[in-house]
Amino acid sequence: MVAPPAWNRSSEPFAELFSATAIATRVAELGAQITADYANREGDIVVIGVLKGSIFFLADLVRHIAAPIILDFIGISSYGDATVSSGVVRITQDLSRPIEGKHVIVVEDIVDTGHTVHYLLENLATRRPASIALCSLLHKPERSERETKIDYLGFTIPNKFVVGYGLDISQQYRNLPFIGYVQGA
Ligand code: 5GP
Repeated sequence: MVAPPAWNRSSEPFAELFSATAIATRVAELGAQITADYANREGDIVVIGVLKGSIFFLADLVRHIAAPIILDFIGISSYGDATVSSGVVRITQDLSRPIEGKHVIVVEDIVDTGHTVHYLLENLATRRPASIALCSLLHKPERSERETKIDYLGFTIPNKFVVGYGLDISQQYRNLPFIGYVQGA
């Protein structure tokens, strides 16, 4: 249990799942793994961050990928401001460039039911990239409704609605340095 930061509007304590140090260690490992896997690939590597939740993870991760990469972003909406999956997924902001013939690494914050990445990967595949890999910081297997192959996974988590390190509830808590959940949530 960690005290919420002084600026936090909620007085509820957080249960910490992963400290900033534990996250940094795991992210460095994922970056090293990606570096090794892509060392001999010809062609451009495009790392696509799924807005907004993945941006902290992406920023840390790419600094551990020792290869030339291009960054791009895609906006996906699946939840609105609620914490329950609506099953409705749409692109709210598209990539800035075509990905045809490129090696694409999609960086997500969390795979929950799997609907979002399923839709996203199918959509990106129609754009004929040379390859697509999925990198997700978190996975909640208990909630899975779609079989999802995660090529690079940070942590598996229990069925809790987590916040911090990019993840939000109603746009709050993204800037917590650790990942946790509001006690009682
Ligand atoms: P899925 O389509 O896999 O059910 O949901 C994926 C999206 O739902 C994630 O990209 C994230 O925006 C949101 N989400 C799912 N579980 C959580 C959670 O525990 N915490 C937060 N903050 N967002 C979540």
